[in-house]
Amino acid sequence: MVQLTNRLTQFLTKKKHQHFINGTYQNSIGEEQIGVINPATEEEIGQIAVGTTEDVDKAVLAAKNAFHHTSDWRKMSPDDREKILYRFAELIAENSESLAQLVTLENGKLIKDARSSDVGGAAKTFRYYAGWTTKIEGETLDISQPQKGGRQNFAFTKREPIGVVAAIVPWNFPISIAAWKIAPALAAGCTVVLKPSEETPLSALLLAEIAMEAGMPPGVLNIVTGDGRTTGASLTAHKDVKKITFTGSTYTGKIIGRAAIENITDISLELGGKSPAIVFNDAPDLDFAANGVAAGIFRNQGQVCVAGSRVYIQKKVYDKVLTDISHAAQKMKISHGFDETAQLGPLVSKSHLQKVCKYIDSGMEEGAKLISGGTKNPLDKGYFLQPTIFSSVDNEKTIIREEIFGPVLAAVPFDDMEDALRLANDSQLGLAATVWTKDISKAMAMVNRLEAGVVYVNSPVRSDPALPLGGYKQSGIGRELGKVGIYNYTTLKSVNIVY
Ligand code: NDP
Repeated sequence: MVQLTNRLTQFLTKKKHQHFINGTYQNSIGEEQIGVINPATEEEIGQIAVGTTEDVDKAVLAAKNAFHHTSDWRKMSPDDREKILYRFAELIAENSESLAQLVTLENGKLIKDARSSDVGGAAKTFRYYAGWTTKIEGETLDISQPQKGGRQNFAFTKREPIGVVAAIVPWNFPISIAAWKIAPALAAGCTVVLKPSEETPLSALLLAEIAMEAGMPPGVLNIVTGDGRTTGASLTAHKDVKKITFTGSTYTGKIIGRAAIENITDISLELGGKSPAIVFNDAPDLDFAANGVAAGIFRNQGQVCVAGSRVYIQKKVYDKVLTDISHAAQKMKISHGFDETAQLGPLVSKSHLQKVCKYIDSGMEEGAKLISGGTKNPLDKGYFLQPTIFSSVDNEKTIIREEIFGPVLAAVPFDDMEDALRLANDSQLGLAATVWTKDISKAMAMVNRLEAGVVYVNSPVRSDPALPLGGYKQSGIGRELGKVGIYNYTTLKSVNIVY
């Protein structure tokens, strides 16, 4: 068992956590509290306040004042903003163990994943966007407007920070997905109010403390805790919010989209996925492909937006690849996240486990063949589920049409490339896809024709701050990360000077 760090032990002594507004912890105006549960032990590790409309108003006001008046954040030289963001990245890395342990406690995930994907990923993202503060550019344009008396045009565009940003994030990668939003927003000169998921709110509070230690002016980053229905809805409906950036389910994305249009607020949506993994007969090495497909669905207990949750395998190698994936799944050690040898931890919550189990039941009721897993609670306590694989699935079954967001894989054989494309593109969602083949021409044909925002060839999908992420179809609107990620938080001004 990992020894909790002193900093984390100290943080957890505070049983009732407050909002983080204007650089300090502040009591909630509302009385309602939500318990934060460790999914491995089912024990409460703390409580958060449910932010009311008044709490949200306070946080948005702090962010608005920091944007317009009290802090120099917007007017600060890009070089000075870069130094603070870079320092923040360094402090995230220095506090890596405290943050990672907290993510494991509240989310259940493996500590090694919390260290690398969550905390390591967040530090990398802040470093990447620290560098962007000095690289935000407009353009000069040769326009054709006639001017009298020999006068001329000097037309250009400039990018300005958009204003107060409302960031709403899910529980699956609580710190890294928050960083995908906070880092580019702050680099662009915006200020932020973040609402973390009620399942994993504590790591966001610790992150905000660290931001202050890095020299972030008060009000630049605020955290309001609470649930989506109350706190999230107040935040997305707020008239002083100029940009909403949301990651979560397609269902909630539609609700938030409606709130945004009411105030004509700019919005980016990173939504759900049901991503295909397509294995051809000529995959570079069938074991490698099988392990890659298994990693693509079972990492983070399958609670990954880009998880390859439907696998299409060409008929000749179907049995062999499926057997290999199944062996990989059966060998996975299921244990709590602090077990350094564990390969699969608990799901995030009891209700989420129940939701995933319902999908497993629907798979069996609709006639899919369960070839591996399917059993919940293989340990005494905690929200554990065996990695589960179905075969004999057709494209009409619920388990292949809907996002399950758990360690459940549905396998389907295909004849040829056209068949694979037809099956893979037959979905309302289009976040990611993977293709496994040695043939570069075939790989490129698939890349060109797959309806997905991210395509990886011969590898499960991984994120990188430099590589944009986002979806086709109902998987979202816009892209985050990379260069486009920073432009999400700017607005364009066109200027013409007649001289
Ligand atoms: P939800 O959509 O349920 O929630 C996401 C966030 O939205 C949470 O903070 C939630 O708060 C909040 N929320 C819920 N209702 C509202 C509302 N009416 N107004 C404002 N905010 C609201 O998703 P999950 O947290 O269950 O996360 C899993 C989903 O996220 C999956 O569908 C997954 O695919 C998607 N996802 C997408 C990614 C991408 O990049 N495309 C990456 C990661 C996940 P609370 O939970 O406190 O109620």
